[in-house]
Amino acid sequence: PQPNRWASSSKSKDDSEVGHCTRVQRNVNMEGLRTGYLFPEIFKRESEHMQKKAHARLIRLGIGDTTLPIPDIITSAMAEHAYALSTIQGYKGYGAEQGNMDLRKAIAEKFYKDMGVEGHEIFVSDGAQSDISRLQMLLGSNVTVAIQDPSFPGYTDSSVIVGQAGKLEEESGKYGNIVYMNCGSENGFFPDLSTTPRTDIIFFCSPNNPTGNAASRQQLQQLVDFARINGSIIVYDSAYAAFISDESPRSIFEIPGAKEVAIEISSFSKFAGFTGVRLGWTVVPEELLYSNRFPVIKDYNRIVCTCFNGASNIAQAGGLACLSEDGYKAVTNVVNYYKENAKILVEAFASLGLKVYGGKNAPYIWVHFPGLSSWDVFNEILEKTDVVTVPGRGFGPGGEGYIRVSAFGHRENILEASMRLKKLFFLA
Ligand code: PLP
Repeated sequence: PQPNRWASSSKSKDDSEVGHCTRVQRNVNMEGLRTGYLFPEIFKRESEHMQKKAHARLIRLGIGDTTLPIPDIITSAMAEHAYALSTIQGYKGYGAEQGNMDLRKAIAEKFYKDMGVEGHEIFVSDGAQSDISRLQMLLGSNVTVAIQDPSFPGYTDSSVIVGQAGKLEEESGKYGNIVYMNCGSENGFFPDLSTTPRTDIIFFCSPNNPTGNAASRQQLQQLVDFARINGSIIVYDSAYAAFISDESPRSIFEIPGAKEVAIEISSFSKFAGFTGVRLGWTVVPEELLYSNRFPVIKDYNRIVCTCFNGASNIAQAGGLACLSEDGYKAVTNVVNYYKENAKILVEAFASLGLKVYGGKNAPYIWVHFPGLSSWDVFNEILEKTDVVTVPGRGFGPGGEGYIRVSAFGHRENILEASMRLKKLFFLA
């Protein structure tokens, strides 16, 4: 604490001339953030493009937001819950911080059957993004972390914010204290674990955003063995599990031995169009222990009770409806629609002789333009076809030379974008 200046104060000259500022220093970790500029930069380029070509019909296949309506069976359940809040009998205030036990049990039954995961190990949340931050708060600034490169920016950014990342090396675009696990076409989008240094935490996302690749059972077994041997914890993000079309595991807990070394975060966002409704969950198994044998689940419970007061009860009613027999069928139909979109986009790029990845187990298509700058490819596509994509470089240094294309669109837009792209590359 410092002495206060109240008693001796008169309005300072500076205040009136340049506006007031506090004496509080900016958190140095916040100053270290860089990667958050991706989507604002895309939006800026999109706006500039529209100023030049005011009549262009822009098709946005950039940001991975869902576009189709939520099936009525689910919104009806939410509406019913909301109306009941206006009645004496139906009113509910705070619920359990960890979520409604019926929903926790339903998640365990639907997604973790025969994997030994129980309702009390599932913490319902307002989405995977917030859970990543809550996990970072749980882990603190002293842990070492490994992150897939390229990857969803949430892991790196939250790591910078809590102070794990170290300094950004401008030339490489990498933070000094993060281990970057390269996942490119040359290694089948799975890191070479024989050369990966040991870290306390391994963030691993499968099916992956942005590459669209789902790790195989054998690869995930390797990852679990790697974590067991090194005494590490895997934070596994399965937000896109619903899009898996082949035999790839939908959860890390399908792998024997994972319960002692992994936490799983997941979400209703892409599975049920809940990006705006906000609902997700995190599984922290009872068996997961710190080096002093203290159960991680107890600390996570404390974080959830202190930093979160439970997900909206309306959203949870929607979540339960998604897991009913008819609700599940209805959301699966929507997922299948996006999967069909992905197929159309994959075929469009492949027909041009380009190397195309993803799309089969994820709503993202990852297109390779070897030797080219991903921002240049992004610009060229935007200028010539009015289609917005995402430059791979925005997901980390390992994304250079790629663009990500999202399949979360209406069919007519996907078909139109495919046609325009085919023309562009045909002429080029
Ligand atoms: N994890 C991954 C891999 C994502 O791509 C996203 C969103 O795009 C999230 C988590 C965030 O999901 P939520 O909407 O549940 O916060």
